[in-house]
Amino acid sequence: MKKIALHWKILIAMALGLAFGILMKNLSLTAVVIDWIKPFGTIFINLLKMIAVPLIVVSLIVGLSDLKDISKISKLGGRTVLFYLCSTMVAVIIGLGLANSIQPGSYINNESRLSLLAHYSTDANQKIAMASSAKTNGPLQPLIDSVPDNFFAALSDNGSMLKVILFVILIGIGLILIEEEKAKPVIDFFKGLNAVIMKIIDLIMLFSPYGVFALMAALMVEIPDFSTLGALGIYGLTVLLGLAFMTFIFYPLLLMVFARVSPLKFFKAIAPAQLLAFSTSSSAATLPVTMECVTDLGVDDEVSSFVLPLGATVNMDGTSLYQAVAALFIAQAMLPYPLDFHTQLMIVVTATLASIGSAAVPSAGIVMLVIVLGQAGIPEAGLALIFAIDRPLDMCRTVVNVTSDATIATIVAKSVDKLHFSKD
Ligand code: ASP
Repeated sequence: MKKIALHWKILIAMALGLAFGILMKNLSLTAVVIDWIKPFGTIFINLLKMIAVPLIVVSLIVGLSDLKDISKISKLGGRTVLFYLCSTMVAVIIGLGLANSIQPGSYINNESRLSLLAHYSTDANQKIAMASSAKTNGPLQPLIDSVPDNFFAALSDNGSMLKVILFVILIGIGLILIEEEKAKPVIDFFKGLNAVIMKIIDLIMLFSPYGVFALMAALMVEIPDFSTLGALGIYGLTVLLGLAFMTFIFYPLLLMVFARVSPLKFFKAIAPAQLLAFSTSSSAATLPVTMECVTDLGVDDEVSSFVLPLGATVNMDGTSLYQAVAALFIAQAMLPYPLDFHTQLMIVVTATLASIGSAAVPSAGIVMLVIVLGQAGIPEAGLALIFAIDRPLDMCRTVVNVTSDATIATIVAKSVDKLHFSKD
């Protein structure tokens, strides 16, 4: 009951925030929203981000030490990585399939192409510059990036979730390997701390309807003028079609086949996380809530504390699907020839890797898209074409990223007999 109430509260707050934003924009009171309402949205996201890192550290230590067996950890890790990789590749292939059959790039005429390129070139150049460091790195850089040279520096750096996870896994393994009497006080301490953190998340969630209201109102007053967007309609619909396929067909199928879980019950449980993903555009900020929702569904903490933080960092099906559609859209709009099969195959690989490398924050996907474009020989300047509607698409792809993490956490839990799912 409590969860259903929360999800309705968030939904109502979203609708009210949107309506309020539109009203204020029409009354030319945009500045009031930016100065007096938006800060509450920012505070809400900061609160979620504040608790995310302590939550990952503490719950992962507790979860791993509860597994009590190194072979169980490697089994869990192996299955998680396999499912994550496969689902991301399926997402890219679906994106490519849709973009090839719908051909969204052919719907954009020369006039709107030139006007979009001129209008958004500064924004595009900014993102291209942001991606430049990732481009000059070698192929094994992501591997190097997952090993911290300083754990405390990794803790305080938002983009270093993988480093934190790796170090914490080592602590968990260490706790399993040392004598029980030495490990017990440490584990007890972290168990206590875990309960405190869960309580803090409950408290933060009391604020969620207000935070979501503020985020939605700010979004409405800040969103660019829709007059140039007509040309991008088919592109936006292609991305949305792919995201809807993943959410309403692919994941429910996975859940039914691999976990014997009713999709309806799954969606009911994770609705608060999906709504927050939509309003914050950040899987990292949503993580604390995703963990709570998945626990409510019946996934053991031992599994969710490992699978979800890893998923928030590396598993982005929505982002990879979007990158595939966007790359093809830009190619269709900018290049005089269609992309050959070999180049499209390369997009499957690069979009999978680029989504793994994308940070779980707003707009990270469009930065990493630069890499996909570069590898496929598509003009990077074409990024300007898709800028105008990137924010709403970011909101939607983040929902898919979070849904995918929750789906795979449920499947992995089932596969290791850690899903305590009541059949009502
Ligand atoms: N905002 C997305 C996320 O946090 C990443 C992206 O930009 O695609 O999952």
